[in-house]
Amino acid sequence: MNDKRLYSPKYIREVLDKFGFKFSKSLGQNFLIDGNIVRNIVKGSQANKDDYVLEIGPGIGTLTEELALNAKKVVAVEIDRNLLPILDYTLSNYDNVEIVEGDILKINIHDLIDEKLNGGPIKVVANLPYYVTTPIIARLIEEDLNIESITVMVQKEVAQRIVAPPGNKQYGSLTVFVNFYSDPEILLSVPKTVFMPQPKVDSAVIRLNMKEPPVDIDKKLFFKIVKAAFGQRRKTILNSLSNRELGLDKEQVKELLERSNISPKARAENLKIEDFIKICQTIPSLDI
Ligand code: SAM
Repeated sequence: MNDKRLYSPKYIREVLDKFGFKFSKSLGQNFLIDGNIVRNIVKGSQANKDDYVLEIGPGIGTLTEELALNAKKVVAVEIDRNLLPILDYTLSNYDNVEIVEGDILKINIHDLIDEKLNGGPIKVVANLPYYVTTPIIARLIEEDLNIESITVMVQKEVAQRIVAPPGNKQYGSLTVFVNFYSDPEILLSVPKTVFMPQPKVDSAVIRLNMKEPPVDIDKKLFFKIVKAAFGQRRKTILNSLSNRELGLDKEQVKELLERSNISPKARAENLKIEDFIKICQTIPSLDI
């Protein structure tokens, strides 16, 4: 019986051969072939029988099957139409799974949650295609969707950037962006050997526990400041914020930093999220 579970490499090959499926490198297709990892991702997501789950990129349904066994309903969005007949076949025993053909970067996720996932709150679980990891995460956390948590496999290096503390080389705009909307934690490290075909890099599973971002903040301005600060991360914050994009000259930035209680000699990587928030909230008081 276990031989027929979707993480069995023998069964996966059998299914792929039956349908004449060829992996697409450009779609980031690296399928999981390790039952322990599959179970640990689902455990780490904390999905239970009351939960509505959105999966991105089900592949041949390996993670989908484990989710179906543990959640109330799973909706999985897959871009590769060659996988649809395979998913039909491999998941035919599960009546709480719905496959949606589409590109997660293009479909209307609001409508999907409303129409197919009971309006949320939902949990997102995925072994993400690595070529679009950050755009997918950005879309999920930025669009004010009814999402409780996002548990995803990403490149190890991306996971490390997301949880890096201030002062660390990997601390950057991605860190600030993700931590603005969520509390992230790395759940497990994953070696390349548990994928078919094997990717070049190691991976990690990360869970983003969504939280309400500060309400009284101009998000557009906030991320403009963060981008300007890290765009020239070797410069002092005084110099990196004195630029045309932000419309501030050096004197104004000096004043801004003084009012925000931040040293003009600090660099972006030394500033906490609260510091960026402070800067953003102080700008209107400059009278410019
Ligand atoms: N979940 C499967 C597993 O763990 O074995 C497959 C994971 S594989 C890393 C990524 C999956 O995402 C592939 O099935 C790929 O076709 C799909 N995919 C790639 N880009 C996508 C997109 N923009 N929208 C939806 N699915 C996508």
